[in-house]
Amino acid sequence: MTGIGGHAIGIDLGTKYSCVGVWKHDNNNVDIIANDQGNRTTPSCVAFTDTELLVGEAAFNQVVRNPDNSIFDAKRLIGRKFSDTSVQSDKKLWPFKLVEGPDDKPMILVTHKGKEKQYAAEEISSMVLAKMREIAEVYLGSTVKNAVITVPAYFNNSQREATKKAGISAGLNVMRIINEPTAAAIAYGLDKKAGWYSKRNVLIFDLGGGTLDVSLLTIGDGVFEVKATSGDTHLGGEDFDTKMVNYCVEEFKRKHNLDVSGNIRTLRRLKNACEKAKRRLSFTTTTDIEIECLHQGIDFYVTFTRSKFEQLNMDFFTKCMEPVQKCLEDAKMDTDSVHDIVLAGGSSRIPKVQQLLQNVFKGNELCKSIHPDEAIAYGAAVQAAVLSGHGNGKLKDFTLLDVTPLSLGVDTIADHCNTFMTVVIPRNSQIPIKENTSMTTSCHNQTHVRFSIYEGESETPINNNFLGEFVLEGIPPAPEGVPKFDVCFEIDANGILKVSAEDKSTGQKKDITIISGCDRKQGIETLV
Ligand code: ADP
Ligand code: MG
Repeated sequence: MTGIGGHAIGIDLGTKYSCVGVWKHDNNNVDIIANDQGNRTTPSCVAFTDTELLVGEAAFNQVVRNPDNSIFDAKRLIGRKFSDTSVQSDKKLWPFKLVEGPDDKPMILVTHKGKEKQYAAEEISSMVLAKMREIAEVYLGSTVKNAVITVPAYFNNSQREATKKAGISAGLNVMRIINEPTAAAIAYGLDKKAGWYSKRNVLIFDLGGGTLDVSLLTIGDGVFEVKATSGDTHLGGEDFDTKMVNYCVEEFKRKHNLDVSGNIRTLRRLKNACEKAKRRLSFTTTTDIEIECLHQGIDFYVTFTRSKFEQLNMDFFTKCMEPVQKCLEDAKMDTDSVHDIVLAGGSSRIPKVQQLLQNVFKGNELCKSIHPDEAIAYGAAVQAAVLSGHGNGKLKDFTLLDVTPLSLGVDTIADHCNTFMTVVIPRNSQIPIKENTSMTTSCHNQTHVRFSIYEGESETPINNNFLGEFVLEGIPPAPEGVPKFDVCFEIDANGILKVSAEDKSTGQKKDITIISGCDRKQGIETLV
């Protein structure tokens, strides 16, 4: 054990699966840690039964028996409001119950040990994180405190804060929250030594269980700049499984004239079998699905070919390419400017998806050197090692920095006065950062000043993204330009922005915490 306060782990808290890794000095590499079932990823699932609380594999394995009290997808809820359109539409698809709690907070309703109970998403995520911590502790033979946790690049401040809170409740010292594509790029960069000295544009294509995240990063001198992110919050492995299940239901009907489409238990068993078959079809062109006593004592047997699988899902696969185009457009890059295309997420193994992606990039080789299920946890573990001062050997010249993608500034509005954007933190500044600026009134005897915070590159605030605002009141009457306000912009290492303003004459101070990360633009879009 070395460095500050023992081991530091990296956790990829996925929508469907989570993964944990730790930097090992003996082999100068990251070890991805297997759970007690020998699997290197663990379902992000929590289940409540009459007698116990189950997390991970154990929870996942009893979903068929206990669908109402088996919670997954907490990541889709974390840091969101109950009234969010995305929450409302997800709610319809979940077998578990969701109710509105105080302050528009979504609460998961379960029956545990015979009693009704409500849990917030971060409590469920906390249980998953505690499980990942335990997996690491068993492997390392010691307690683990320090951790880096990853989140999607588009997560806003509230989602990041809630994830951090989940980590703290799991007994972790959350050293940092980092973006998933940044973590994947770290894994890739460390493997390839790519871009440490010369700039490289890297596209991360992360197709997981329920989401597709596409990000374009520029890597150079250990700086990771997320240029653009795009994606689809409802496109991934589960959708492909569903198509297979529907096909099987039809087959069963055709062969036995029996409709199983209303039977949750039967569908769940089909889904598990289809998911396994789907995984095999990434490596073989034909596979069999066999389920004993699927329905009314009848066995089910079907041969699935890869081409059948592709035919069923072709629309989805084509749809996966749209965010790639969008991401390139947003980053103002063409396909030729992308040096590396890196695959991440379990579903990126699907040959057809790889082929379509390769076509977009005119046949350029895709990078498959990083492990799609493990790359994000790997990168998080590297970041954790660096942060806890474990940097040696391979990590020596390796400083990991995120930058703020857009300029941040303030616009003071006074009646009858024009407005302009005063940039406080210029784009591409490395975070964490703290910058101060001095501002004043623009009218005589102005009694209040509104501080509106924007991000963007235009001098005219309304052409930029509005982030938030607050008002300082009770300013003593004075000629324009006399009162002095100290305005401070501070972005912490997690990408969380705090803005404060102080009236020097009265000492009155106000502040606001705003959407964070390399993703404010998207965060705001989803908020609106
Ligand atoms: P997330 O980050 O969304 O939690 P992952 O990146 O771990 O999820 O991806 C999980 C998804 O990847 C699941 O839908 C799983 O079925 C799929 N998957 C895993 N291995 C393969 C494979 N060999 N071929 C196709 N899909 C796979
Ligand atoms: Mg993932």
